[in-house]
Amino acid sequence: MSARPAGEGLYLDGVSVVFDGFRALNELSLVVEPGELRAVIGPNGAGKTTMMDVITGKTRPAGGVVRFDGRDLTRMDESAIATLGIGRKFQKPTVFDALTVFENLELALKAPRGPLACLRWRLGGAARTEIEAVMVRVGLAARAADPAGLLSHGQRQWLEIGMLLVQDPRLLLVDEPVAGMTDHETAQTAELLAGIAGSRSVVVVEHDLDFVRALGCRVTVLHEGAMLSEGSIDHVQDDPRVVEVYLGR
Ligand code: ADP
Ligand code: MG
Repeated sequence: MSARPAGEGLYLDGVSVVFDGFRALNELSLVVEPGELRAVIGPNGAGKTTMMDVITGKTRPAGGVVRFDGRDLTRMDESAIATLGIGRKFQKPTVFDALTVFENLELALKAPRGPLACLRWRLGGAARTEIEAVMVRVGLAARAADPAGLLSHGQRQWLEIGMLLVQDPRLLLVDEPVAGMTDHETAQTAELLAGIAGSRSVVVVEHDLDFVRALGCRVTVLHEGAMLSEGSIDHVQDDPRVVEVYLGR
């Protein structure tokens, strides 16, 4: 595994989000180290997606600190935050069905993220090499010339992860990646995400506890907009508070 990347990582302290008087996040605090893989679980409505919305600048917190590598994200707009190297994968893939796997990755690489991405694009051959490396990483090298519309549901999710990877994010946020996947695809996705972390931070929101166990990482349990429990999957699954609000239902 590569050395831990430099920087401070992701730092949330006392973050609150209020929608019409309702606290979707209630003094949430969370620290994700550079290179760390972190799973975030919790019942529906716990605030998981809102947390990602705050990190990416889509939603402004009513209060609290949100920093990435020392930069105050609450003062930046969505595109500035993306330029910092924070990438997000939504549940619904946004791949272009008529384009091939390679072409989808090519488009993602060309999409402006910042001066570095543009510089890399002008290298041509280097860009191709990078796309090929990402295709191997997400298990789609053999499908390079196939239209994305021919991929399975799981493969489309991996393609979208690949489209984020070519932008070389420093923090990747992934919301419910294995919904609708086969067991085999789910296991492969756990392996993929664990391999992607290390050189960057990865935060994965997911309901599937077998998948979270396979990630083999620290788990944060959210409940009513705040952190309820944190630790290994065994620790949080044995935590009586977690059993009561989430697992025992
Ligand atoms: P999760 O992803 O954990 O299921 P969400 O972050 O989507 O939870 O939602 C947390 C709570 O905030 C829910 O009760 C949801 O209804 C509410 N909520 C989320 N977004 C909005 C919004 N834009 N306006 C009003 N309420 C919202
Ligand atoms: Mg959600």
